[in-house]
Amino acid sequence: MGKYDVIIIGGGLGGLICSAILGKEGYRVCIIEKNKKIGGSLQTFSRNGVKFDVGVHYFGGFNKGQNLYQLFKYFGLHKELNVQRLDMNGFDRITFSHDKHEYPLSQGYDNFKQNLLKYFPKEKKALQTYIDYLKEMCNNFPLYNLTTRNKKVLGAKFEELNTRDLIASITSDKKLQNVLAGTNPLYAGEPEKTPFYLHALINNSYIESAWRCIGGGSQIAYHLMKLIKRYNGSFLLNSEVKRLIIRKGMVEAVVLDNGEQIDVDKVISNVHPAATMEMIDPGMIRKAYRNRILSLENTVSAFLVNIVLQKGFLDYWNYNRYHYKKENVWVCHRYNEKNWPLGMVIFMSSNRGPDGYAEGITIMSYMNFSDVARWANTFNTVTKPGDRGKDYHEFKKRKAEKLIDAAEEIIPGLRNHTISYSASTPLTLRDYLGTKNGAIYGIMKDCRNPLRTFISPRTKIQNLFLTGQNLDLHGLLGVTISSVLATSELLGMPALINKILNT
Ligand SMILES: Cc1cc2nc3c(=O)[nH]c(=O)nc-3n(C[C@H](O)[C@H](O)[C@H](O)COP(=O)(O)OP(=O)(O)OC[C@H]3O[C@@H](n4cnc5c(N)ncnc54)[C@H](O)[C@@H]3O)c2cc1C
Repeated sequence: MGKYDVIIIGGGLGGLICSAILGKEGYRVCIIEKNKKIGGSLQTFSRNGVKFDVGVHYFGGFNKGQNLYQLFKYFGLHKELNVQRLDMNGFDRITFSHDKHEYPLSQGYDNFKQNLLKYFPKEKKALQTYIDYLKEMCNNFPLYNLTTRNKKVLGAKFEELNTRDLIASITSDKKLQNVLAGTNPLYAGEPEKTPFYLHALINNSYIESAWRCIGGGSQIAYHLMKLIKRYNGSFLLNSEVKRLIIRKGMVEAVVLDNGEQIDVDKVISNVHPAATMEMIDPGMIRKAYRNRILSLENTVSAFLVNIVLQKGFLDYWNYNRYHYKKENVWVCHRYNEKNWPLGMVIFMSSNRGPDGYAEGITIMSYMNFSDVARWANTFNTVTKPGDRGKDYHEFKKRKAEKLIDAAEEIIPGLRNHTISYSASTPLTLRDYLGTKNGAIYGIMKDCRNPLRTFISPRTKIQNLFLTGQNLDLHGLLGVTISSVLATSELLGMPALINKILNT
């Protein structure tokens, strides 16, 4: 019999939300986190006094009554957050080289349509069809709508078509196709694989309402930690779970990196499902299940540069910018050494400067793990800092300079107004977050075989459950929904949804 009702492995958003829900419902919970700080991708860091987000640069669905708002209201988190609504008439702006227009994605469906019609006056019908398809798709996900009614069968068009082809079936205007799929890096979209549901659930939430945390996404982790402590939850930081001891088809104990063994009743793993499988001795879990999880493909990784800017150089943007070299948002991960980067996203740092100027920006571009594979055997983690060597630092510098040069097209003078910058590679994401090959969003969803990439919170071990971005959906909203799914295995779905709705 363990000291806790539930052990949560990993203190990222998924682990924290599960703990808050279970704590609220009277469970004694302990979170074991390998880093010295909780939050995972929610963390922030500072350079020259400027705060940058690791992940969660913005999020959707947070207006009163919308799904994320209602979910956060359930544990009182909605009142704690310092947020700012992004530009109603273009929270995201899509641009292309050799095209002077900034194509806006706007909040509110009518506004979304009207603002795009200014650039695509002949596409009224296509835009309405796109909106109808988004809504129809989202309606088919009960938990996304906080209901327990059954899923409808929508038909092959929706279930099997990839996002690129579905959008192409709505309009033949290539520019509009690329604008509608212009936030591709939000879900690491792949042309033949990305299911339309992934695009729809994410884009719908931002069109409903788009927000940024002032002062960084780490405040979400901080407030969740306070709540969890109020519910008598415990934290074991700087502790990496290395092994799960299985007896008679149940997890009996978790083993930490220092050799300590903690007896458990139930375990929820917030780490990548493949990493969770690697904690279990082969033969202790059904082979076919283990092999399926271990063989699943992950999304592409990313290279990020965080730049501290000279005061007064750049106005703080109340939006994000997605920029593409070519009029094809689906090929950016298929770059070569010479033409990288084919696309990029620019996010503002977490705080608006006191004078209305941007203190810093983050530029993110896709990077495949193969680019850094030659250093794959070097590690630099919070608990075990290490140096990957001179050639790695040179590689990082070369790539950072190239990305900054490419961004000059959007922000002329950027290089000359940069005070300092820091960069991260797929290896940084791998070591910092524990994701496979630094995958930005974990397991890749594939519409060609949706059931294979569908991860259930239940595993073949009776008292071991999964949560986090690898289940239904990634991102702030997606992981919150995945946490409801995971904890409903213990609390019962209808009861939990009722409580969330009646808070
Ligand atoms: C670069 C980037 C940009 C993003 N931008 C956005 C955005 O703008 N909006 C948005 O909504 N989402 C964004 N996301 C996605 C979002 O941040 C993630 O989907 C979400 O935070 C993932 O939460 P998680 O709990 O599933 O995983 P994680 O945050 O990865 O948490 C896993 C935790 O487990 C810990 N851990 C791992 N292994 C072990 C172990 N063996 N023992 C103990 N602890 C362990 C890790 O240290 C970590 O704290 C972004 C992600 C990235 C990487």
